[in-house]
Amino acid sequence: MASACSIRVRGVVQGVGFRPFVYRLARANALGGWVLNDTEGVEIFLEGAEQDVVAFVSDLKTQVPPAASIAELEVRAVSPQGLRDFTIRESERQAQPTTRVSPDLPVCDDCLADLLDPANPRYWYPYINCTNCGPRYSVIYSLPYDRPNTTMRNWALDSFCETEYGDPGNRRFHAQPIACPRCGPDYYLDPPETEPAASEPSIRKAADLLGTGKILALKGLGGYHLACDARNTAAVGALRCRKYRKEKPFALMARDLEVARSLVELSPQAQVLLTSSARPILLARGLVELAEVAPNNGELGVMLPYTPLQHLLFAAGAPPVLVMTSANRSTEPIAYEDEEALTSLAGIADNFLIGQRPIARRVDDSIARFGAFGPVVLRRGRGYAPAPVAKFPAQRPILALGADLKNAVTLVVNGQAFVSQHIGDLEHFQSSRAFRETVHDLVTMYEVSWDELIVVHDSHPQYASTAFAAELAAPNTVAVQHHRAHVASVLAELGEFERRVVGVSFDGTGYGDDSTIWGGEIFVGSLGDGFERVAHLRSASLPGGDAAAQFPVQAAAGFLAQINDLPRLTQPPFNFPVRYHKAAQLLSRNVRTFPTTSIGRLFDTAAALAGFTREISFEGQAAMWLEHEARRSFLVGPYPFPFVNGELDFRPSLESMIEDRARGRDTREIARAFHRGVALGLHDALIQICQFHSIDTIVLSGGVFQNELLMEDLKSLFAGQPFQICTNHAVPPNDGGISLGQAAMVSVLESHEGVVQTSRSDCYI
Ligand SMILES: [Zn+2]
Ligand SMILES: [Zn+2]
Repeated sequence: MASACSIRVRGVVQGVGFRPFVYRLARANALGGWVLNDTEGVEIFLEGAEQDVVAFVSDLKTQVPPAASIAELEVRAVSPQGLRDFTIRESERQAQPTTRVSPDLPVCDDCLADLLDPANPRYWYPYINCTNCGPRYSVIYSLPYDRPNTTMRNWALDSFCETEYGDPGNRRFHAQPIACPRCGPDYYLDPPETEPAASEPSIRKAADLLGTGKILALKGLGGYHLACDARNTAAVGALRCRKYRKEKPFALMARDLEVARSLVELSPQAQVLLTSSARPILLARGLVELAEVAPNNGELGVMLPYTPLQHLLFAAGAPPVLVMTSANRSTEPIAYEDEEALTSLAGIADNFLIGQRPIARRVDDSIARFGAFGPVVLRRGRGYAPAPVAKFPAQRPILALGADLKNAVTLVVNGQAFVSQHIGDLEHFQSSRAFRETVHDLVTMYEVSWDELIVVHDSHPQYASTAFAAELAAPNTVAVQHHRAHVASVLAELGEFERRVVGVSFDGTGYGDDSTIWGGEIFVGSLGDGFERVAHLRSASLPGGDAAAQFPVQAAAGFLAQINDLPRLTQPPFNFPVRYHKAAQLLSRNVRTFPTTSIGRLFDTAAALAGFTREISFEGQAAMWLEHEARRSFLVGPYPFPFVNGELDFRPSLESMIEDRARGRDTREIARAFHRGVALGLHDALIQICQFHSIDTIVLSGGVFQNELLMEDLKSLFAGQPFQICTNHAVPPNDGGISLGQAAMVSVLESHEGVVQTSRSDCYI
């Protein structure tokens, strides 16, 4: 008996070979009907024998193509229409798109084999791709995902590509960015260097240039990279010098897994992360010293090639380990337009390897680590963005603008939270431009009307993102306190809207409820009921406010003002520079001095006491240096870090450091004792607070928890105890995760009380 059904599929189902998969499956089961992409995902109409329909639905769930993932499947029985053939229909446009745009995918094994096979028509063609691999987010201008809406719209298919594109049995059936050497874009060198200026000779020449120590700008998926031979100290040194990048570590690209294994310690789980379809830069313990690549840092950041171009460079004999860093000057966002790259990278790159396919939007490489509590994304970009990371109860669209450092924004549409790629630090003009572009891009792509948006921003009155929220003139804007947003980001990932937790936010600096600088906060509560601050780091003074983050001795002046009988810190072994005195003067005159509970600044103080007395050259450098020192020591007894009357008291710990340093104890042991003390102090405080409030779930978030040694210590201290420890995985624990937390808090509030719907004034959480 003929039966028919209509199937609605939501998830990552466009641009990943889903329709041809459905087509083949329907044919294999002798079913008639059709499949189409629309703005909600994929719709299927099926008819045929009942058992064949049942078999189809079961195969649909279990045999999805590698890059696809089904989030929801709705099957409805309908009346048969007498269709015998199965067809793929043209895409339909509908109201608001909620389809999930696939992140960019690494080149697949089949395409790699084609790429290196001299008999294949796409031999050495750097833009090879198929429905299982290749660019997605970085080429899509708008939805639905069809070639005219991509950066490939200016290249018409020749008959060869056309045939493959139209053949449901082919791997490239409806592969939107399909191209071949005869009809598609090319790579060329600037200055040319080769004759003719075609892809293959240009790429071979580029590999040679890398081998001779040159610095190349390479156009990638989501922007330009600067590349050079990582083992050529002179080349890496020149890159540092030209890029004005003093000490911040460079990412590496290893030719293959074997080379990667020679560079870093790879646990089986870390290897899964490294080789995952996101192909992130993996941070792991370094096994080799590469001068100039990651000074004073025990970790190296390594990724594997993910574009055909990168594979070709290695195949052509490029050095097996390349520095592969985002192409920009210092802290500007990654360059992605050719004109912009040629101008801004002139004087940095010796040569440019430029691809003709435009990039729709900048997407930086992601950074991830397999840490004590599992995998964690530290910078969310290519390979992860713009996949949704959470589902929220609210139906109204929400735009959360994040914080000013490590900015990323979140758009919630129909309850799905899309977190943007990493944007950067908004104090820089270029990043601020990128921020506006990304907000506009997301809101446009999902066709959200500006009038219905709830806009969420940090409660810091001086943030650029706060000013931007005001500029948007949305009917509702809501401010969310920074450290509550950190805790909320973890619960948002877990979908825990009601669970009561003890939430720790250990961070650099953020604006507190009392207008002071917070950053060492412990809360009790839930997303639904809000978070009450129940404990914090003992308050210190911060001369210079947020600017003190640049100079560890400046923070030290504030924290050490509470210590009695200080030795002369400008003398050996401390050798604090004159800035320490100036900061102490600000403090004594109470000029530009702010109360703070920032544990990030306490780590800076400890780093200064252990010997890091200069200005930092990138964010978090002093704390990373201190962690690196501590790692080189065996486990030693902790410095005292008592929890008294709701305050973690830093004074005994700093006193012990000063004493030990003065008597000549090894600074590595001092750094280790400090870390162990912070971990133990927090552990004891958490046990007290959990017991008092009868709570068994602990949330850890904030930039300080990127400190892996601190995480390892906490894990070992909590081992065997009846507490569940929750941390970030999909969004960073640093400020890159703030927008998700902001969106979650407002979403739950709206679904509970509709407070946001009725309020027109600035509501504060
Ligand atoms: Zn492929
Ligand atoms: Zn072609």
